[in-house]
Amino acid sequence: MVTMAQTKRIIAAWLRTKVAMRRSPAALARGRARAWARLQPALARCPALSEHAGRPLEAFPITDIADLRRDYGAWNSLGLADSALRAMADAAEAGEVAPPDALSAGWSTGSGGGARGLFLASPEERAEYVGQSLARLLPASALLRRQRIALHLRAGNALYSDAGRGRIAFSHVPLSASLVETIATLEAFAPTILIAPPFRLLALAEAGLSLPSLRHLFCGSEPISAAERTLIAARLGQAPHAIWQATEGFLGAECAVGRLHLNDHVLAVELEPVPHTPGFRPIITDLMRRSQPIVRLRGDDYLELDPRPCPCGFAGRVIRPIEGRVTDLWPGALGTVTPPQIVAAVEAVLGADWRWQAVGETTRATLRVAPDCPAALAQHAASALAAAAARPVTTLHDLPEWAGPKRRKVVWHHG
Ligand SMILES: [Zn+2]
Repeated sequence: MVTMAQTKRIIAAWLRTKVAMRRSPAALARGRARAWARLQPALARCPALSEHAGRPLEAFPITDIADLRRDYGAWNSLGLADSALRAMADAAEAGEVAPPDALSAGWSTGSGGGARGLFLASPEERAEYVGQSLARLLPASALLRRQRIALHLRAGNALYSDAGRGRIAFSHVPLSASLVETIATLEAFAPTILIAPPFRLLALAEAGLSLPSLRHLFCGSEPISAAERTLIAARLGQAPHAIWQATEGFLGAECAVGRLHLNDHVLAVELEPVPHTPGFRPIITDLMRRSQPIVRLRGDDYLELDPRPCPCGFAGRVIRPIEGRVTDLWPGALGTVTPPQIVAAVEAVLGADWRWQAVGETTRATLRVAPDCPAALAQHAASALAAAAARPVTTLHDLPEWAGPKRRKVVWHHG
């Protein structure tokens, strides 16, 4: 159940976001400066950050996710101990539902090394998240119609616990359910909006999922390639739009034109150059989150800027689709090979029809493919990968079905 206060907060966040999406880059920057000033009292109450409160953003230390995960007690502004927070998140994962006007904690799928991250949110922050998401992902006209939103995501996601009523119905379909069960549940619910990870959308499309009711399709949790988008759009009748979300927060989303914009209206994202590549890793500050402040947190996704302006009107910076992580770059004598280069080389041959994983090492690489992938095709893909990555490639027909929750197609073997 959603309280009236919570509904009002969601509408306010939605409206604020829609207004921000029409602002100029300079106006967005002024908005970020004001939000940074308003954030300082919460930072003063957060043990890990209190000594820096009141200073400019650049004066704060850059933190790696592993440091934040070591002690959640140091990283909240509510005086809660690490053990108490972990117990709260475990209870939510076990199915315990927090009261609608209470603080909630949950485990996210995590980004670094597959480790899960604890996510803390007050009712105000959950409303902010839902309002922002609706504004960023859907045209205003979509809210005039009744919507049925199916969230096919990891269980226990506290952010979505504010299930709507009235015009918007939510259904959470856990990823742990089998494909057959999931298809039956989804077809019975008949969603107009579906959010799911790409690996699962591919499997559902392959298994014959049919949703004539579907109007908007979103994917998140892991990268999606161009070939996969084409295949999913053809099978499900809707082009998937990517949402870039991590434990660090809601970082970006594709607009109606299909370009991925950073959430520059509520985040201060600094771009740290990745040596020997044209790309960056993000250093993220969330200007809205107070219960669990996120200030200069270094993310692990490898991203490249897209300098072409976007006609959609939102001034948030545009980045190219994310295809992998900085820790999965392949260094080599002839230069560093990036995940987008590897995905492009392999999928030029395999398309999205065969699952694959490329594992790089210093002097060689392995291309793992599904057992039923034709040998000649796999060999052809291995040759393309060898040329792109400048190292010999061995092929193995041993890649099992993706079990989730995080698929990794490009891997660097840290010896
Ligand atoms: Zn756009």
